[in-house]
Amino acid sequence: MTERFPLRLTYRRQLTASVCHYAFLRDDGQPLAFHPGQFIQIHFHHSDGHQTKRSYSLANRRDSAADADAAAEIVVSQIPGGAGTAFLDGLNIGDRIMASGAHGTFHLYPDGHHRRHLMIATGTGISAFRAMSPQLGHRMAQDDIEAVLLFGVRTPLDLLFADEFYEFSERFPRFRFVPCFSREMPQHPRPDDRQGHVQAHLAAFEPNPQTDSAYLCGNPQMVDACTSLLKSAGLRMAQIRREKFIPNS
Ligand SMILES: Cc1cc2nc3c(=O)[nH]c(=O)nc-3n(C[C@H](O)[C@H](O)[C@H](O)COP(=O)(O)OP(=O)(O)OC[C@H]3O[C@@H](n4cnc5c(N)ncnc54)[C@H](O)[C@@H]3O)c2cc1C
Repeated sequence: MTERFPLRLTYRRQLTASVCHYAFLRDDGQPLAFHPGQFIQIHFHHSDGHQTKRSYSLANRRDSAADADAAAEIVVSQIPGGAGTAFLDGLNIGDRIMASGAHGTFHLYPDGHHRRHLMIATGTGISAFRAMSPQLGHRMAQDDIEAVLLFGVRTPLDLLFADEFYEFSERFPRFRFVPCFSREMPQHPRPDDRQGHVQAHLAAFEPNPQTDSAYLCGNPQMVDACTSLLKSAGLRMAQIRREKFIPNS
């Protein structure tokens, strides 16, 4: 069985009507080792009594406003009637919960692998890219690499951590932030804003098997659709890293 450890809630903030940002400290004095992009699992008892768990990508960014010392930050899409949603929603600052991890292989390929990072997120899938951003910035400062982040949301209100990503793109001109709005465009769109789903805009970036690695995180249908597009552009599965937010796993 995976090792479990206690976390204590230190911060919570509602980011949108249905997305909440939580930060926890490890409550056993140990650090939480993880690669940016990985996820943790929260273990709890379902309202019917059975033991269950839910997975959440780590959203930690070193200079995060949530808590510079946070061991684990997660960003939770609140599903009406959802067991994990209800469990986390019921927590108060200082409450202790059990977790395990970090899990998964969704993290940046080793340095020098590919010249362009094609990154695609929907909804709370942006967490993994928030966590990767310091590492990506470090690479962009050292090497001649580029990155494009397509972020699929419904409306401008859903554009999580937008200020951080705009600030990041100002600091690193080879990083492009491309929000894709499926339901409602901003009143004053920016030049890189797009209308529609991310998969409708991916081809315009001309995915190239010679130069690109791709990272897909969030809605499973989006991940599958983008994988098909990337494969038809010639990328091999070894160039594509994926994290599907499959419910209840
Ligand atoms: C590797 C991994 C990483 C993940 N990371 C995150 C993350 O960072 N943030 C995050 O919010 N979630 C993440 N998820 C999804 C998360 O683990 C939960 O499955 C999800 O939040 C629903 O949990 P719940 O207990 O609230 O709802 P559940 O009790 O699991 O579901 C209640 C009902 O809602 C349906 N449902 C579940 N999810 C959705 C949805 N998205 N839209 C509509 N209906 C739904 C279910 O099918 C069910 O009928 C991740 C999943 C995986 C596998």
